[in-house]
Amino acid sequence: MGNDGGSFAKRTELVKVKKKPEAVDKANQTRARWAFCALSKRRLEEPIVACALGKLYNKVALIEFLLNRDAYGDGEKICAHIRSLKDVKTLTLTANSAPVPADIEPTEHTQFMCPLTQKEMNGLTPFVYLRTCGCVFAAAGLNAMRSSPSESASEPEKDTCPSCATKYTHSLDCVPLNPSQEEETRLRELMAAERLLEPAKKSKKRKAAAADLVPEPPAKKAAPAPTISTASNALRTTLALEEAKRKATMSDAVKTLYDKGDPQKDTFMTRGTFTRYA
Ligand SMILES: [Zn+2]
Repeated sequence: MGNDGGSFAKRTELVKVKKKPEAVDKANQTRARWAFCALSKRRLEEPIVACALGKLYNKVALIEFLLNRDAYGDGEKICAHIRSLKDVKTLTLTANSAPVPADIEPTEHTQFMCPLTQKEMNGLTPFVYLRTCGCVFAAAGLNAMRSSPSESASEPEKDTCPSCATKYTHSLDCVPLNPSQEEETRLRELMAAERLLEPAKKSKKRKAAAADLVPEPPAKKAAPAPTISTASNALRTTLALEEAKRKATMSDAVKTLYDKGDPQKDTFMTRGTFTRYA
């Protein structure tokens, strides 16, 4: 780039600068998301599943979590949207056939790749999975294979998975893995919408089950015993009288601060204590 008469090379394009700590941190985070289970933080090992939000988990860890939702400290925070194994899809991944570079440990080598483009699944290229069959591809590779790239929103045409020939609807079944914030928001909305459409029978069952668990709503609190209420009313009146007396001896300047309301009304001096203990 540059020096061709059309543009000037900038210093940043010519000089290699040491990566800033934030950049290194971001790279590590990206690596972690693509190489480790989002729940257990252990290295991804097949069988691997993905949720509706495109996060990757070791199936074993997820089952552990579903059996005991406290099994992982922050499990409920990460997997709150997963109710059962029906909410995740087991992925069909392609092992990375590229040789392990000499300068890294075999465990650090990217495990999977796109069967269409041979791109490594390391977070540098967007990847997707199909909810219908669980096959995983680089987004660009899958798009290139689509039979109907120009689909109308009203009539989405079915595509065919290039790996296993299962039919799928691109706009619904193609889920980005480890999506961007915006994409994640879209996926969350889609998930919420789909759950609303879930068979009513199932939700009725859930509701009934929930009703069984929840005890009957407690009867309305009985009105406070009359003695207490009368006593507090008497006290209120006494204090109001005292307040009035106190006001009568106040200087005019101070009086203006209090004189706005009805003199019978509680002032801020009495209100708090009464409502708290009455
Ligand atoms: Zn497939």
